[in-house]
Amino acid sequence: MSHPLLDQDMTTNPFDDDKLREECGVFGIYGHEDAAALTALGLHALQHRGQEGTGIISSDGDKFFAHRALGHVGEHFSKEDVIKGLKGHMAIGHNRYATTGGSSQQANVQPLFAEMEFGGFALGQNGNLTNALTVRQQLVRRGSIFQATTDTEVIIHLMALARGASVIDRLVEAMRQLEGAYSLLCMSKEQLIAVRDPMGVRPLVLGRLGDAYVLASETCAFDIIGAEYERDVEPGELIIIDQNGLQSSRPFNDQPSRFCVFEYVYFARPDSFFQNHAVYEVRKQIGRELAKEAPALADVVVPVPDSGVPSAIGFAEQAGIPFDLGIIRNHYVGRTFIEPTDEIRHLGVKLKHNANRRLIEGKRVVLVDDSIVRGTTSKKIVEMVRAAGAKAVHMRISSPPTTHSCFYGVDTPSQDKLLAHQYSIKEMAEMINADSLSFVSIDGLYRAVGEAKRNGDAPQFCDACFTGDYPVRLTDKAANEPIGTDDKVRKQA
Ligand code: SF4
Repeated sequence: MSHPLLDQDMTTNPFDDDKLREECGVFGIYGHEDAAALTALGLHALQHRGQEGTGIISSDGDKFFAHRALGHVGEHFSKEDVIKGLKGHMAIGHNRYATTGGSSQQANVQPLFAEMEFGGFALGQNGNLTNALTVRQQLVRRGSIFQATTDTEVIIHLMALARGASVIDRLVEAMRQLEGAYSLLCMSKEQLIAVRDPMGVRPLVLGRLGDAYVLASETCAFDIIGAEYERDVEPGELIIIDQNGLQSSRPFNDQPSRFCVFEYVYFARPDSFFQNHAVYEVRKQIGRELAKEAPALADVVVPVPDSGVPSAIGFAEQAGIPFDLGIIRNHYVGRTFIEPTDEIRHLGVKLKHNANRRLIEGKRVVLVDDSIVRGTTSKKIVEMVRAAGAKAVHMRISSPPTTHSCFYGVDTPSQDKLLAHQYSIKEMAEMINADSLSFVSIDGLYRAVGEAKRNGDAPQFCDACFTGDYPVRLTDKAANEPIGTDDKVRKQA
């Protein structure tokens, strides 16, 4: 079955265009003489969370030093003179993800920095403020002039107007006016400050490197510098680190935790862990749940690389079917690939993935992938596996159907572009030309992350992209503002 959603004329690599994308990673360190170099390494480990822009701001307790640029971490922070210029014992860093080409602006590259009444202030954010546009419009009416289009800048303007005596008082006053799902790392001349949103939707972890404190979006950033994981920053927690050590407080309303379950499914690196659950193990367990819920008569289990690998291993183990790398991924494909003709565009599908014919020919194949967004990738992968001689192709997906957009810091197509929002699973199977298609159930996903099942009255995670149950109020969306479709003020972090 052909459909416009599946036959789009894409000007970017079709495989890159058909995934939800995490938007940003943060890293911070206090109390180390190599703060900037360690931050650069941490950002390297968090590169998967954002590839458009990268930045580090450091401080020696007196002055600030900044380097921010469009591009990857390695392009900028592998240069000795750049790192040497970032002096001081504390630093924060940020990787930013671009939602579309039009949003590529140097001014949006974080951490942001402002000279305030109380001195310099640096700020990096992962996540999204869901009332940023509404607040921004109010601020503009009162005379505020914005430099960038990122929602994070709203925080700086609110702090400038706040009445609190200290930096922390002003930050708390600003954040109490904002709604959203975010992790913030901030830096004044003397303090490294971390804030996690009241429901802990976006991740933030705390670690130690000797006497130094480190904070990061994921634990994989600790591994690269040899830091020890201490704990997840609590939902709604504010942490201040300075020469007196670490102070923790909870200045925001206590709310039940609703961590983003998609971090486990896809966004986070498989070697990270949150809340003491290893991401890799959770993904394997999802595969086992999937095999129990939706078994298939097959000869081989093949992951769609790379994100489908752990779940495919779990599926294969549970089902007792051999696992093989029947699709090989080319890791050196750039994001942009403009195809001049239909014929060349069709060949371009094989830029990123190619079927390993000898492992597939004549076999009934279970293909395991993490999600179906628009469905373009799935259709082409199934075609590719069939062309390599598969006798049957059973598609298994290690997340429930993605039926809703995310407004909490993840780049999602609008709802009408989500295949699962428009079509039943049977229709989707026909569209992607699979012999069968199954998704793990929402309870299966919850079991994989250690819960008995989803508590419908008080869900333990944010799962809004599967259920439409949005835990954080969508003020801007309710005001009919085009969040997620407009380059003016869209999620930038
Ligand atoms: S809507 Fe989905 S992707 Fe967005 S925070 Fe919630 S679970 Fe994560």
